Amino acid sequence: MIREISIGIGMAVVVSMLVMGYDVTPFLFLAVAAGALYYFVKMKGLINIKNFETGSTAEKQVFSFDDIGGQQSAIKELKEALDFIKNHSEIKHLGIRPLKGILLTGPPGTGKTLMAKAAAGYTDAAFVAASGSEFIEMYAGVGAQRVRKLFQSAREMATKQNKDNALVFIDEIEILGGKRGKATSHLEYDQTLNQLLVEMDGLKVEDKVRVLLVAATNRDDMLDAALLRPGRFDRRVKVDLPDKEGRLEILKLHTRNKPLASDVDLETIAKDAFGFSGAHLESLANEAAILAMRDGAEEISQRYFNESIDKVMMGGKLDKRPSQSELRRVAVHESGHALLSEIVRRGSVSTLTVTPRGNALGYMRQSPDDDTYLYTKEFLENQIAVMLAGAIAEEVILGNRSTGASNDFEQAVRTADTMLQSGMTELGVVCPDILPQELKHKTITGLVKEQEERVRKYIVRSENIINQTVEILLEEEKITGEHFREIMDNHN
Ligand code: ATP
Repeated sequence: MIREISIGIGMAVVVSMLVMGYDVTPFLFLAVAAGALYYFVKMKGLINIKNFETGSTAEKQVFSFDDIGGQQSAIKELKEALDFIKNHSEIKHLGIRPLKGILLTGPPGTGKTLMAKAAAGYTDAAFVAASGSEFIEMYAGVGAQRVRKLFQSAREMATKQNKDNALVFIDEIEILGGKRGKATSHLEYDQTLNQLLVEMDGLKVEDKVRVLLVAATNRDDMLDAALLRPGRFDRRVKVDLPDKEGRLEILKLHTRNKPLASDVDLETIAKDAFGFSGAHLESLANEAAILAMRDGAEEISQRYFNESIDKVMMGGKLDKRPSQSELRRVAVHESGHALLSEIVRRGSVSTLTVTPRGNALGYMRQSPDDDTYLYTKEFLENQIAVMLAGAIAEEVILGNRSTGASNDFEQAVRTADTMLQSGMTELGVVCPDILPQELKHKTITGLVKEQEERVRKYIVRSENIINQTVEILLEEEKITGEHFREIMDNHN
């Protein structure tokens, strides 16, 4: 209405000026510029609302908790919270405050979005999704407007679908819900977050459409305290990286539509894929299928999975070919790592290769014994030894070291630092913040030196094992852990 009156007055002024003989060109130019700016801002809002809608209609297929692997305890916790929504009349009777928000926290790719979709299926709710970054604009007020629209479209969607519940999912909530006053264009950020708080406070159990907000973040430490207080995000569910059993479950889910050869051992793959998230495992299964297709194979055999682990872990194969002498150096280096790895823990080498991938010219992949969360002094010392072994093998066999070991040294020093901070050194328990730098440096280098001496003895004693492995690597590019152990046993 105000807009129409303003346009009317503006036109009347322009016509009067024309009649009176004034030059109205600058006014017309200004009016066109102001109109264009207004529509641009407006359109930005509209584009986003459309995005919310496409996001939600695309999720029509019902997703269930059975499609999520390795997150039993997170699913259990989430289901308990969702039962409040399902049994809303009971909680109303007991005077329990309705649950307004659930925050899913955890590393990327662990299935937080999947959990939100499954939660919508579980509560028979309309699902509307948006990402925190979609709310942030340079124009003041646009973000707040989008938050309003998001909740409004969730309610409309539920009504359209004849549902009593709507689930609003906001991914990367830390972008829109970061601590207030911290962002550069803080006013806009703050207005957007304030609007979200207003929307959350307005959610009531007696609403015609009950709305639940589920948000996900990898950085809950960045969230504003107002979001985390009771009555807002009442439940926090941790969605962690899966353990070995979890990885196996996820692999089973992502290979159920794929023709697997009889030699495929998903348990071994799950063991080797230590540290992989659900998203990594999905990619691993997919890459294995692509490799099989490239070879024209009818079924996906174990070797495709092995290669796919390398690809997901290290990146795609590179075209660069090192010179023959460089290749020999890489083979010596990786054989050194493998030798020490087998000495400190028999059966730990999974593959050994001189194929350049990602940032590495070659690599030795270890398969962990079991998922480990605590490390002993002996374990950490052994890890340092394995890291140093590449450079020392180069030194013993080729007579000098190369720059290829800098990353290994960095890791070795970091591990030694962990030992120092855990009170495992001769200094005993220390406060690292007030420990003199010189003493810290001396202790860490002392730990590393000790392992260097130990590794050198092993390498000198096992030169022939390394030499034979290098020849095979130069010929075949890759050796399996079993083959390497055979070579070691033959030399024993
Ligand atoms: P981000 O924090 O980066 O947004 P996210 O935790 O929301 O990640 P999702 O988007 O849910 O991760 O997962 C990405 C993909 O990874 C899924 O589409 C699915 O294929 C696979 N995936 C992740 N976790 C699991 C799981 N627990 N079970 C089965 N598949 C999974």
